[in-house]
Amino acid sequence: MAEAGKKPRQFRAEVRKVLHILTNSLYTNREIFLRELISNASDALDKLRFRINRGESPSLPDLPLEIRITIDKDAKTLTIADTGLGMTAEELAENLGTIAKSGSEQFLADIAAENAAKAKSGNGRAHEDDAEGEEAVADAANIIGRFGIGFYSVFMVANKVTVTSRPAFGEDSSAHTWTSDGLGTYTVTQSEDAEPARGTVIKAWLKDDAEEFLEKFRVESAIRKHSAFVPFPVFVDGEQA
Ligand code: ADP
Ligand code: MG
Repeated sequence: MAEAGKKPRQFRAEVRKVLHILTNSLYTNREIFLRELISNASDALDKLRFRINRGESPSLPDLPLEIRITIDKDAKTLTIADTGLGMTAEELAENLGTIAKSGSEQFLADIAAENAAKAKSGNGRAHEDDAEGEEAVADAANIIGRFGIGFYSVFMVANKVTVTSRPAFGEDSSAHTWTSDGLGTYTVTQSEDAEPARGTVIKAWLKDDAEEFLEKFRVESAIRKHSAFVPFPVFVDGEQA
């Protein structure tokens, strides 16, 4: 059972491999990390709505079901908050540190197969090593959401991520923060922050080469492209996208 504590914990081995691929490669399609985070936020809001419709009472029942993205150019952070189901300390550790085993294995197998196929059909392109590498990982970015490992795509653009969450149901309404640099370990600690009042706030410290995502129009265009049909309002710096 996961307990809140400062002691760093190891990611599952498969997760470490996925993170390694995501953090050490070139990407042409990194913007899909936004789609993955928004889709997780939407799922969490969906789950909350389902339980409300079943007659359960969440905390703060008048809080709107929505997703808010905020940009801090000085701190170079991108924050995505939802008022959904939220996670306990145990769920933070399980969902973001250990569970993705089967999805990770499938993902790694698919990437390996794809790279092998590319190598085989790559006659005449041997001199284009870089371009090919980039192409291979662009594919990785495209398929990542299929394997239940979409969350980790945030490490394509971030070198530190915190996930602070306060469950909508249950006796214990305290918030906890999952923190990782995506390298090998994570921590889960109790949070004293007032936010989120309910649900989850994910904060990403963007890498120097991902500062384009500090531009509002850039974030909005990625949302239009990949998250147009999310059934909850999405705001970027207070404006509905
Ligand atoms: P998937 O969405 O396919 O399950 P992800 O890697 O995207 O895989 O997310 C892993 C898990 O982390 C989710 O299944 C969910 O349990 C949890 N999770 C991620 N983001 C949130 C969020 N914003 N609110 C609640 N739970 C979340
Ligand atoms: Mg997901």
